Amino acid sequence: MPTVKSYAATSATDPLVPAPLVRRDVGPHDVLIEIAYAGICHSDIHTVRGDWGPIAYPQVVGHEIVGFVREVGAEVTRHEVGDRVGVGCMVNSCRSCDQCQAGEEQYCRQGNIGTYASKDVDGSITQGGYSQAIVVNEDFVLRVPESLDLARVAPLLCAGITLYSPLRHWNVGPGRKVAIVGMGGLGHMGVKIAHAMGAEVTVLSQSLRKQEDGLRLGADHFHATSDPATFEQLAGQFDVIVNTVSAPVDITAYLKLLDIDGTLVNVGAPPEAMPVSAGVLIGKRRSFAGSLIGGIAETQEMLDFCAEHDILPETELIEASYINEAYERVLASDVRYRFVIDAATF
Ligand code: NAP
Ligand code: ZN
Ligand code: ZN
Repeated sequence: MPTVKSYAATSATDPLVPAPLVRRDVGPHDVLIEIAYAGICHSDIHTVRGDWGPIAYPQVVGHEIVGFVREVGAEVTRHEVGDRVGVGCMVNSCRSCDQCQAGEEQYCRQGNIGTYASKDVDGSITQGGYSQAIVVNEDFVLRVPESLDLARVAPLLCAGITLYSPLRHWNVGPGRKVAIVGMGGLGHMGVKIAHAMGAEVTVLSQSLRKQEDGLRLGADHFHATSDPATFEQLAGQFDVIVNTVSAPVDITAYLKLLDIDGTLVNVGAPPEAMPVSAGVLIGKRRSFAGSLIGGIAETQEMLDFCAEHDILPETELIEASYINEAYERVLASDVRYRFVIDAATF
């Protein structure tokens, strides 16, 4: 069993530290991926800090992974040694339930197996991408199009698909008005993808600090949510709002910005409950919805869409030793717009 270098959390409060990590032997349907880059998602921080409940330590997180296939199992047919590949938030699922059969493995009736902090088929706890290599079943490994810069592409594997899937599901395209709440890792991908789909895009950010960036990335309009006038001016405007905020927000205030039949999709995942006004939903047949990443086939579709439209995340490349500082900057909304770890520095 290969041992590789990684960065692991050892408790909910201590900084991440370098640690050896044992990967399983390559099985007949597995590929061994030498990781080149790994993105830092806010979910990594929620997980290691126990925001969503207790986890087992040590835990290696990271579910925005790209690299090269270095070894394939005897029965692997989908990937070859040398291929540029990616792994997102899932590494397996039951394969047989209606959701898996429909390509919606993220909603597997048995629960999908997450790339980290999940119980694997052998009973061990999965360990993620802040490491030099990973062994994954070939069906959960994506092809990374050649035209996409490998040093920037990793965040598409979570941030990209988490916005692409609801934008597709709620039929975003020409003639539709979309608002993205929060312009961090997820939000800035939402701006780029919704713009490429042809929608009229508005960013709702805490302040106007990111306005210039938002307009450059494809937004048509940019408003500060700290200004009460924003909520008056934009009342009843949007067909779809995607809330990416990692902290609780006043959902009812955002619901009022939806047109009749509009949908507010929550992808931000704060642990706290958020109250919703029934009257605000009823009066205009509005919907309040959620969405979890996307299926494997849809993730491939998203990567191909990004290659076709020349879409890449805005990234800041860091060394592994900077992870803890990067976490503090993500928590302070001071990331433009995704940290990516150079795996050569583990
Ligand atoms: P992020 O980079 O930290 O972005 C979150 C953004 O929300 C910030 O940049 C900031 O944008 C805004 N924000 C932060 N704190 C706020 C506050 N107190 N009030 C108002 N706005 C605030 O995080 P991320 O990686 O994009 O992840 C966002 C959330 O989505 C996390 O909860 C994560 O766990 C969750 N997530 C869900 C899925 C899914 O499948 N549903 C997948 C991945 C991640 P502005 O500066 O523009 O205001
Ligand atoms: Zn994520
Ligand atoms: Zn299933």
